[in-house]
Amino acid sequence: MKHVKCARCIRCGKEYEATPNVTTCDCGGILDIIYDYDYIQANFTKETLKNRQDPTMWRYRELLPVEESTEAPPLRVGGSPLYEEPRLAAQLGLKKLWVKDDGLNPTASLKDRASAMAVAKAREAGAEVIACSSTGNAASSLAGNAAAAGLKTYIFVPSRAPKGKVAQLMTFGATVISVQGTYEDTFELSKAAIDRWGWYNRNAAINPYLSEGKKTVALEIMEQLNWQVPDYIAISVGDGCTIAGLWKGLKDLHAIGFIDRLPRLISAQAAGCCPLNRAIAENKPWEPMEENTLADSIAVGVPRNAEKALMAIRESNGLVVNVTDEEIMAAQKLLGRTCGVFGEPAGVTGTAGVKKLCEQGAIGANDTVVSVVTGNGLKDVANAIAACGEPISIPSDMELLLKAFADKGIDLQ
Ligand SMILES: *Cc1c(COP(=O)(O)O)cnc(C)c1O
Repeated sequence: MKHVKCARCIRCGKEYEATPNVTTCDCGGILDIIYDYDYIQANFTKETLKNRQDPTMWRYRELLPVEESTEAPPLRVGGSPLYEEPRLAAQLGLKKLWVKDDGLNPTASLKDRASAMAVAKAREAGAEVIACSSTGNAASSLAGNAAAAGLKTYIFVPSRAPKGKVAQLMTFGATVISVQGTYEDTFELSKAAIDRWGWYNRNAAINPYLSEGKKTVALEIMEQLNWQVPDYIAISVGDGCTIAGLWKGLKDLHAIGFIDRLPRLISAQAAGCCPLNRAIAENKPWEPMEENTLADSIAVGVPRNAEKALMAIRESNGLVVNVTDEEIMAAQKLLGRTCGVFGEPAGVTGTAGVKKLCEQGAIGANDTVVSVVTGNGLKDVANAIAACGEPISIPSDMELLLKAFADKGIDLQ
């Protein structure tokens, strides 16, 4: 890869050749892919992009760590809409607000960006089996992207994973191990199995290519905004791989001169499970927390990308915000009703965070904000119904309809 220099340990700085199987550093630190920005700048311009038809994440190939000869995996990942939301902005008291709906990816979450990259790298490695552990979305997205590419998957999920995600896994033909325990327990078993059988490892903390896939959400947001940098980008945080990827993408664009400043990140976590935000707020090392939230995708008590995530929040001079499950459910309703965007609980946590920061006056009237919705609400219908209520249920009878409307105070004359 002419545009990639190496994989460098973020802890001790040791450098490795960036082969598909590079894992963690000898010191235990996680690796970061280092690019030759001079080379990229000489070969990649905004004009190149303007003339490119491909709407997927692979339109940014010059900034992705794949060989020139590597085929893009089959599913159409990326190219999700960025909606300007003036009514929601007005309600929250913001100057401008955009919602990036990444729940519209093929398996309905932002994780597809990482899984497509995992499939590309597994192919480069000549692997035929990929494995991961996941709270649910990394799993279903890996299963889908691998199925499309003809690869076999072994997937470890905690038994609490919502049915919609498990249904996806079974449909995509993964061998699914539902671990009776926490996400931490799930991760440990997957790690032992991967060591034992030598499968390609899609675990986001171990594989440095995954946040490179996720960074395409930042590249897309900036291109969709015509390179006009917002003041803030808000996103929900579990393991921390997503926010780290978001930041990497922004820094890449800054390094090659596509954007002239960097936004501040907003790291949104659930109040019942916020080890990374707590570490920032109290300015001390992170410590494990219980996984106490209905937002299953970010119920991560032992974050696997803590170092990269904390670095991203700190470097961006970011804000941290913790929201309760009630605030998450309210945001789900608000996004649905004001924007027509249906997010799963973890998907809307960033927006819940923006709302809370507006109410606290931490951000406001002069600020421009992008809020990323990271996963689709159809993955977890039970929680959506809990948040938004049940429909009017009656037999087919006009008298009963009139009565039901009257009971609800719906006045149609
Ligand atoms: C995985 C996930 C996140 C958080 O990503 P991390 O890399 O674990 O921080 C947020 N929202 C959804 C819907 C997810 O699936």
